[in-house]
Amino acid sequence: MYTVGLTGGIGSGKSAAAACFRALGVHVVDADQAARLVVQPGRPALEKIAARFGTEVLLENGELDRARLRRLVFDDPDQRRWLEGLLHPLIRTEIIAALQVSKSPYAMLESPLLIESRQDQLVRRICVVDLPEQLQLERACRRDGADPVQIRKIMAAQLSRTQRLARADDLLDNSGDSGDLERQVQPLHQRYLQLAASDKR
Ligand code: ADP
Repeated sequence: MYTVGLTGGIGSGKSAAAACFRALGVHVVDADQAARLVVQPGRPALEKIAARFGTEVLLENGELDRARLRRLVFDDPDQRRWLEGLLHPLIRTEIIAALQVSKSPYAMLESPLLIESRQDQLVRRICVVDLPEQLQLERACRRDGADPVQIRKIMAAQLSRTQRLARADDLLDNSGDSGDLERQVQPLHQRYLQLAASDKR
């Protein structure tokens, strides 16, 4: 399966771009969704997390309190490494399974941490959704109703704009409106169709 990775920082417009590709019939796998699935009740990862962090990381309905866990590991590198060591391989397996059922000419993997968590090994090209950091901050704050300090912290934990751009094969400039984004998706889609077709030959 010819797979393109779609990445960008928080609030850059990955979901918006993914929606454009989906509208063109592309099978898009969402790494965030895979990350949520592997910690569902009944999955072994959840028991391991509860055993390590205590039942305080569980909600009343037995689901993982993701926000609480995120806060617990944010400033604790050891716990964070443990959690990533547990979850990353499971998320990868989940992503591979979701990509394998794709019936579109090429598939896409949408992931905020495509490069950081080595999911780039699963893709042939990297498409980066890019915009100035100030605009990214504003859009992320507005969407999440979060304060800028919190969003800046998340941005600092992700690759910098420069580091991400250095890994980009393709760019989507999302500093304009949604129509601008859609217009850029069209030619990229055509290019990916060609690349996927010539890859099969
Ligand atoms: P990501 O998935 O990368 O975190 P989103 O696609 O959710 O980012 O976009 C972040 C926020 O910015 C959302 O509220 C979205 O509706 C808005 N947004 C995305 N692209 C644009 C755009 N081109 N113009 C205005 N708002 C946008």
